[in-house]
Amino acid sequence: MVDCPYFITVEEAMAICQKSPPQIEVETLPIWESTGRILAEDLASKVDDPPFDNSSMDGFACRFDSDATYPLTLTIVGMQAATGANKPLTVGDGQAARIMTGAPMPPGSDAILPIERCRVDQDNVTLLEAPKPHFVRRQGENLQHGHIALKKGQQLTPSRLGLCATMGHATVAVYRRLKVAILSTGDELKPPGESLTHGEIYESNSYGLAGLVEWAGHTPVRFPAVADSMDSLRQALNEASSTCDVILTSGGVSMGEFDYVRRLMEEEGDIHFWRMKIRPGSPPLFGTWSSTPLFGLPGNPVSSHVVFRMLVAPYLRHALGSDGPKEWTVRAKLCDPVKSTKDCVTLRRVTLVSTEEGMMAYQPRHQGSGNIESLASAHGLTLLQPGQSGEVGTWIDVLVL
Ligand code: AMP
Ligand code: MG
Repeated sequence: MVDCPYFITVEEAMAICQKSPPQIEVETLPIWESTGRILAEDLASKVDDPPFDNSSMDGFACRFDSDATYPLTLTIVGMQAATGANKPLTVGDGQAARIMTGAPMPPGSDAILPIERCRVDQDNVTLLEAPKPHFVRRQGENLQHGHIALKKGQQLTPSRLGLCATMGHATVAVYRRLKVAILSTGDELKPPGESLTHGEIYESNSYGLAGLVEWAGHTPVRFPAVADSMDSLRQALNEASSTCDVILTSGGVSMGEFDYVRRLMEEEGDIHFWRMKIRPGSPPLFGTWSSTPLFGLPGNPVSSHVVFRMLVAPYLRHALGSDGPKEWTVRAKLCDPVKSTKDCVTLRRVTLVSTEEGMMAYQPRHQGSGNIESLASAHGLTLLQPGQSGEVGTWIDVLVL
């Protein structure tokens, strides 16, 4: 038995991992290269948004007059397009200016009537109803100059990138993506594309884990599968720790004869905990190899994926103080029974169906932790707490995949 915390809760495991954060660096990038990155600074707006009063409709700009009766005919004084460059128009009593969406409000005007409600006859326009002040977008109504609209730690989603540009920022300080080494271990693993001999299987974890690392906003570095020997593993870990910020291994962390990740970490690395109270996925370990944080994930494909979502993703988010990628849980009613355990969080794969009563969770598949198809076809993972009933009809939290 290793001399470290053993078979602990996810929260306890999380607290231990967070004490060994990866090295973080900041870089400045043009905003068009920053999709999905995590902001390393607060961003204040350099301008008011909108920067000037403007029209939200194509139509006519005029003065609102509460005593007027409609239809009302006004003289057209000119056209105000959505450009700062044209000659400023002024609108007086009895006058209107043709205006385009986004064009600055001509001085003297304070209301807009959309073109569909106007009749144009040469130099005159007849308003069929009263013009509307609410079609004017007021200077600063969205954002005021100096307002901090994006905070350090926020992930730059597409709409947030648009906001950066709207606020006048061409470049942003973001955290450098972490390089995450992915090492599969096992003599039985063959790359897809080659033919299998009896006893061999296709290596799949590194592909799924690489996708998860990218989803989390970082850079996966896939290593060739490592043979089950102390020497090959030591060599791969040395290379990974000298070139990457975090190491993920898969396989070799259970009680088996060939579980060399655990043995090597025990004998030459530094294990901070081993085994966690989740099912599937109880065998993981965490520690450091030459001071690089290392997650020893289980070999079973569903387990390695689940442990990434429950432990590695929150660790990476915490390391950058980040709010993304956002994890969603929904309340759902179990429509198939799920067996809970006394001490583990049970993470069964469920299909979700939205109904008038709420979300329904079905468990249609064989649920072995080696069955990656059961994960690929699922929408969520049950977050069934230790001892919580998993009977049909129970409302539970589901982590959306
Ligand atoms: P282990 O923890 O090494 O005993 O692996 C547990 C199970 O997961 C075994 O059935 C392995 O063959 C399988 N396995 C381990 N690594 C991978 C991998 N990278 N891809 C697919 N299956 C794997
Ligand atoms: Mg193995």
